[in-house]
Amino acid sequence: MDFEFTKEEKALQEEVRKFIKKESTPEMLKETEEMGDIYGAPEGRKIIQKMAAKGWLTPTWPKEYGGLGLSDVASYMIREEMGYHGLPFGFIAAHMAGPTILRFGSDDMKKKWLPRIASGELEFALGYTEPQAGSDLSALNLRAEDKGDYFLLNGNKLFNTSCHIADCHWLACRTDFTVAKHKGVSMMIVDLNSPGITISPMVTMAGWQTNEVVYEDVHVPKDRLVGEKNKGFYYLMAALDFERMFPLGRYRRVFDEVVEYTKETILDGKPLSKDPLIRQKLAQLSTEIEVTRLLYYQLAHILDKGGIPNYQSSMEKTFATECAQRIVNVGMDILGLYGQLKEDSKWSQLKGKVEKFYRTSIVETIYAGTSEIQRNIIAQRGLGLPR
Ligand SMILES: Cc1cc2nc3c(=O)[nH]c(=O)nc-3n(C[C@H](O)[C@H](O)[C@H](O)COP(=O)(O)OP(=O)(O)OC[C@H]3O[C@@H](n4cnc5c(N)ncnc54)[C@H](O)[C@@H]3O)c2cc1C
Repeated sequence: MDFEFTKEEKALQEEVRKFIKKESTPEMLKETEEMGDIYGAPEGRKIIQKMAAKGWLTPTWPKEYGGLGLSDVASYMIREEMGYHGLPFGFIAAHMAGPTILRFGSDDMKKKWLPRIASGELEFALGYTEPQAGSDLSALNLRAEDKGDYFLLNGNKLFNTSCHIADCHWLACRTDFTVAKHKGVSMMIVDLNSPGITISPMVTMAGWQTNEVVYEDVHVPKDRLVGEKNKGFYYLMAALDFERMFPLGRYRRVFDEVVEYTKETILDGKPLSKDPLIRQKLAQLSTEIEVTRLLYYQLAHILDKGGIPNYQSSMEKTFATECAQRIVNVGMDILGLYGQLKEDSKWSQLKGKVEKFYRTSIVETIYAGTSEIQRNIIAQRGLGLPR
């Protein structure tokens, strides 16, 4: 397999870099950091809507739904660039819900939602986890009663990250309590400003917000049901495969800055970059970063061939997020006590990035499925080992 970009993809990469340089502002970068790199807050929306106007938010989608019909490799490259340059890259509507609607939604649903997603007008939040349903999502219990022309929703969600800034909830709920757990789940698109929804913040160790969401007698029109009733668990699993595709851009940036730091910082009359132990650690990491890059673009390659990566997404997610932890661990070793200081300290180095990403990297091996769960998937679906 040839992982080189084509001439067209390289030209697009150049164009995207120029665009980012021209359009990104310090306010956007700060907001993205505070939001944990997700999209939906006001500053991020400005640049995403400009990107969307060029077709870059959903470049792989058919033209009739606001795409450019480009390769997934091109789409992955755009996200990688956004992450590297400190802009939002986690697009829930465009990269998780949208592709699921494209595959499983009715024609009406596609016409109604996809162009609005592709234009950047709408962002979604993921609504899967509940107090008793995290790794085992089939245990979710948010009740959706069929009332004829609408569903009546009651129950609690936890860790629903962008609900406080998104427009819609991509919601998994239970529409049948009498059948096997995974057979009674449905997916719906719910307006987050519907009466009866209460969103309360849960601040993570990374400093950004996730949420508890309570549904009390919320009315959801029937046309918000995704695909068929009670088939939602399969759609959710497909959406999770799309979610577990992690560009490493922002950590690659931290790594590049740490490498520069070792060249510029003199200790005992010598640059840190001449220390053999530091060189070994950086060389090892650069190899792992390259492996992550290949795993990441392999997912795009599978999509380009018409497949949906499955255990391969789990491999990439696990390797990328654990590699991110190794990058910041080495960053901490190299910066020594300076590494623990936040940006506002006069002694902090690299604008406190290593400290911030150190905390961020911990939650990333938990959300979208923990590393243990990813390894279970790789063992079962990848290696065919028994459950
Ligand atoms: C910062 C953050 C943001 C999040 N954002 C969202 C969001 O936007 N939307 C959303 O719906 N959810 C979100 N989540 C929820 C996340 O997906 C869950 O936290 C995660 O899937 C783990 O579920 P749990 O917390 O219930 O842990 P549990 O499932 O209770 O697991 C606890 C521990 O047991 C291990 N474990 C569980 N089952 C097994 C098993 N079968 N084999 C081996 N080990 C096992 C787990 O790996 C973990 O270490 C977020 C979580 C975090 C931390």
